[in-house]
Amino acid sequence: YGYARLMEILVPSPDRIQAPCPVARQCGGCQIQQMSYERQLTFKENKVCNNLRRLGGLDLSAMEVEPICGMEEPFHYRNKAQFPVREDENGIPQTGFFAGRSHRLIPASSCAIQHPVINEVVETVMDFLRAYGISAYREESHKGLVRHIYVRRGYHTGQIMVCLVINGNELPHAAEFITRLRTIEGMTSICLNLNTKKTNVILGPSTKLLWGSPAIEDKIGGIRYQISPQSFYQVNPVQTEKLYQTALDFADLQGNERVWDLYCGIGTIGLTAADHAKQVVGVELNRDAVRDAIGNARHNDVKNARFFAADATQWITEAAAAGQRADVIFMDPPREGSTPQFIESVARMAPKRVVYVSCNSETMARDLALLTAKGYRAEGFTPVDLFPQTAHCEVVGALTRSQKSKG
Ligand code: SAH
Repeated sequence: YGYARLMEILVPSPDRIQAPCPVARQCGGCQIQQMSYERQLTFKENKVCNNLRRLGGLDLSAMEVEPICGMEEPFHYRNKAQFPVREDENGIPQTGFFAGRSHRLIPASSCAIQHPVINEVVETVMDFLRAYGISAYREESHKGLVRHIYVRRGYHTGQIMVCLVINGNELPHAAEFITRLRTIEGMTSICLNLNTKKTNVILGPSTKLLWGSPAIEDKIGGIRYQISPQSFYQVNPVQTEKLYQTALDFADLQGNERVWDLYCGIGTIGLTAADHAKQVVGVELNRDAVRDAIGNARHNDVKNARFFAADATQWITEAAAAGQRADVIFMDPPREGSTPQFIESVARMAPKRVVYVSCNSETMARDLALLTAKGYRAEGFTPVDLFPQTAHCEVVGALTRSQKSKG
């Protein structure tokens, strides 16, 4: 493959549209805003199918591939934003986006895929920083205070969390910061995240609560979730509901199964399945997320789910060695996908069904090639567009154990 740069448009494609966002071209966030939304959907569907065929070696004609599940309103859908703060040439803090594959800041204070109130929060924070002369972070010298503005909003509850990521321990004029932010409707949690390391990772290890509660709450499919700043939570709440329903349909639970939710985050997939299963076990590496998952089970009165903090590969390998069994496994790994050892342990454990939820069809296809070599048959896939205007897409796949792999 190669990279190409757009120099000039000679004949525009019939699918090319005027991007609604003025910085769509420079900003690294939305790669395909200039494509009509219908074309975006076919583009993603083709990409997913190609990866499954080419990297997964799957014969898609022998299974059901559902059309991609798109969104009615493919803008202003995001519930989470991380805006970098840097200095302009006069030393004044500014915010915006890093240009694709760089750390060059493109100034902008609103974003076409964020919920509008998130844009309002960002402006309020920027006004505060400028009014009190608070410094922005400078990467080259590792000096200056404010690195990022991190905002989350609960879709069903309207609750807002603001977390200012700083290169230090204290925010000057914190009381005024709180007073200004509290005027925004829905403000629930105001925190500082301390990140004093020289790193590209946005959040540091510790978070200090300035005002309100340490987490916000949201709802998916009737279940309430506590979401801490460090916990993973899907960014498109409308589509997430469809994603989880698709995963649940693929699992085809009868009510008597032992279900494992591996890479479970705050327990969303497992808690969605709990009502339809005998028992749910969730495993997740991030301790904050596991604490959220345990609290979420309790708050929703789910009594048949347990959650553990561990590396998923290590956990399943030890469980398989100890003779533990699951009937259905949900796996939802991060972009890098799972590991060969994880797949090996799944095969040893021989659940009747595996439901793979993925945000990267390349690594999913790679993992599925291993799983099919171990006697699992892919039955069907549904791509779900959780990230309109970007080139990313989620996919759910169902696999069942074929008879001949027994023993
Ligand atoms: N199923 C959840 C989370 C999916 S994102 C949801 O739908 O919200 C992937 C999750 O895997 C993240 O929460 C991340 O913290 C976790 N993770 C990353 N590496 C892991 C590992 N090696 N073992 C267990 N969990 C891991």
